[in-house]
Amino acid sequence: MLEINVQEAVMKQGISRRDFLKFCSMMAGVLAMPRGYAERIASALATPKRTPVIWIEFQDCAGNSEALLRSSRPTVSELILNVLSVDYNETIMAAAGEQAEEAKQASIDAGGYILVVEGSIPTGEEGAYCCIAGKSAIQLLEEAASNAVAVIAIGSCAAFGGIPMASPNPTGAAPVSNFIKDKPVINLPGCPVNPVNLSATIVHFLTFGELPAMDDLHRPLFAYGARIHDNCPRRGHFDAGEFTVTWGDDGHRQGWCLYKMGCKGPITKHNCPAVGYNDNTSWPIKSGHGCIACSEPNFWELGAYNQADLQRYAPPATYAPVQLPTQKIDPASAGIIGGVAGVAIGAASVAAYKALSKSDEEAQTPPANSTKK
Ligand code: SF4
Repeated sequence: MLEINVQEAVMKQGISRRDFLKFCSMMAGVLAMPRGYAERIASALATPKRTPVIWIEFQDCAGNSEALLRSSRPTVSELILNVLSVDYNETIMAAAGEQAEEAKQASIDAGGYILVVEGSIPTGEEGAYCCIAGKSAIQLLEEAASNAVAVIAIGSCAAFGGIPMASPNPTGAAPVSNFIKDKPVINLPGCPVNPVNLSATIVHFLTFGELPAMDDLHRPLFAYGARIHDNCPRRGHFDAGEFTVTWGDDGHRQGWCLYKMGCKGPITKHNCPAVGYNDNTSWPIKSGHGCIACSEPNFWELGAYNQADLQRYAPPATYAPVQLPTQKIDPASAGIIGGVAGVAIGAASVAAYKALSKSDEEAQTPPANSTKK
């Protein structure tokens, strides 16, 4: 048991009670819970109960560890994870060799811990592509999961195989969920994961004693319940048929939609628009690059600059022309179609149909009196 609770531990690191309560409110917001739940989270974190975390890493670039550790300043969530993650983390623990392995084994024997797994599991050549302390990743994963209360597959490599699993997958890389069948596995994909979503998942577990609700890919709905496209600040430009068509063109400089540059926001579920990265400083679309669908399975195979197949996401009547129109539509026909579509799918699609007769070049050139950014 911890001698002090999480709240006391973070306050000892110089975080004020006010900032701690702000963190609890933020966690309630990220978890899509009513404001009142912030008090419940604060109360749970003020309970001196220790939930150890064992963090193991296999076939990956360590980007998820980096995302958590390399921020410009320690945040409350990092401190909370530091308080919880003392048992075993190969990247940051002081112990090494036999001492580190003994510490991990002691935690496994004690049980009751959350297992965080970073990286995919190579299965080729009987696991020879990733061995630590003479054991394959498969053996190490199964051992570490044996007494865990829950397993968090962090980052796209652990969740879905990620880049190591990309064709031709020379190491036989596979996701964590292929190996753990007797306890809950939650996937937190992203390349890298957003540390806010890891914190919120652990805070949910500490507060309610269970993992948050998940989708059919075992991703928590609070973070992966909505498409990026549906909350994107450039969505108005998509609906108006205003697209960046070349890096650095007028549309790009004015913040227009990046769909034609390969943005996968329409087929990607992630809460990037709400929480951003690096203390919400920015995220790919905000910085001017399209989403690469890093939180979706097999994202690497989609091609970063290939256009997403929108018809898998929505019928063409609901979005602006994303290909060059094959024929001009006369205003009367457009009005009829627009009226019908407007009843069916709302005002945004009416604007979309008005753009049907625009060529790419016209769509790219802002009107002289445009105030759009
Ligand atoms: S296609 Fe991409 S940039 Fe355009 S609105 Fe959708 S998510 Fe945003």
